[in-house]
Amino acid sequence: MPLDKVNTEFSKRMRRCSVCWTYTFREVCPRCGSPTTDPHPKPFNPAALTRNVE
Ligand SMILES: [Zn+2]
Repeated sequence: MPLDKVNTEFSKRMRRCSVCWTYTFREVCPRCGSPTTDPHPKPFNPAALTRNVE
């Protein structure tokens, strides 16, 4: 598997602490204990496009 593919798959599962920006798989930052967030955008919502077309 190409390295860039590996990195993409890896980053998909990563979460990021919103306070200290530590990357982790956990829902709570192992460094500061703050909740982590998924840095990737949510799936595209086709309903938004429908409004724009009208
Ligand atoms: Zn943190």
